[in-house]
Amino acid sequence: MKILVPVKRVVDYNVKVRVKSDGTGVDFANVKMSMNPFDEIAVEEAVRLKEKGVATEIIAVSCGDAKCQETLRTAMAIGADRGILVESTEELQPLAVAKLLKALVDKEQPSLIILGKQAIDDDANQTGQMLAALADLPQATFASKVEVAGDKVSVTREVDGGLETISLSVPAVITTDLRLNEPRYVTLPNIMKAKKKQLNVVKPEDLGVDVKPRLKTLKVSEPPKRGAGIKVADVAALVDKLKNEAKVI
Ligand code: AMP
Repeated sequence: MKILVPVKRVVDYNVKVRVKSDGTGVDFANVKMSMNPFDEIAVEEAVRLKEKGVATEIIAVSCGDAKCQETLRTAMAIGADRGILVESTEELQPLAVAKLLKALVDKEQPSLIILGKQAIDDDANQTGQMLAALADLPQATFASKVEVAGDKVSVTREVDGGLETISLSVPAVITTDLRLNEPRYVTLPNIMKAKKKQLNVVKPEDLGVDVKPRLKTLKVSEPPKRGAGIKVADVAALVDKLKNEAKVI
């Protein structure tokens, strides 16, 4: 079984992002970038399936500029077998990424495509669903447990009221939730090994995909600043403030 894992290069989750002064977007200058955390979980799940003897090959894919090669190397250090960079300097919106992935799915014919449930930069939560629609594949989003038996996959999904377990036939699209697994640390020997793994670079034109943005960002702004807190003398003063100032009780 072949597994395709799309991995996005995003601003590291520890970084406090700054908005550009003209409000046109986020300032990426000198900012640490990393693999989207949900994609690390996706790679880890694929590697575990390979360790169980279920998967035979794991292909990591990243769409973006040349620096995404670093993200692919990280995926290969976790255990992906090879990488594909779809190189583009354009802003790639979820629909464009889904179309690129659809073209790769047609070419590579994976049995499973495991994506993150969302990229933590734009929080779109769209790519997996769009890919499933474009490729006409069954999908299980927000997976917290994945079990493969033959050509069936049982996926437990995190839904509002609890957990839902569904069964899908492969090929299928799965998106990962936070509790699916805890990704392993990459070790130095594996980082070294990853440098020697195959990494192919293709362009959107090679895949016949038009990646032109369809959405226009009008404005990006920071959340309102929090005011300083105050100390109250006693519980009675606290209750009075909650009742009469904050008006929350
Ligand atoms: P999003 O729909 O943007 O929230 O992203 C959901 C998932 O789609 C991510 O967790 C990745 O697995 C995948 N994805 C989105 N953008 C890219 C990209 N540029 N390259 C590779 N995978 C991506």
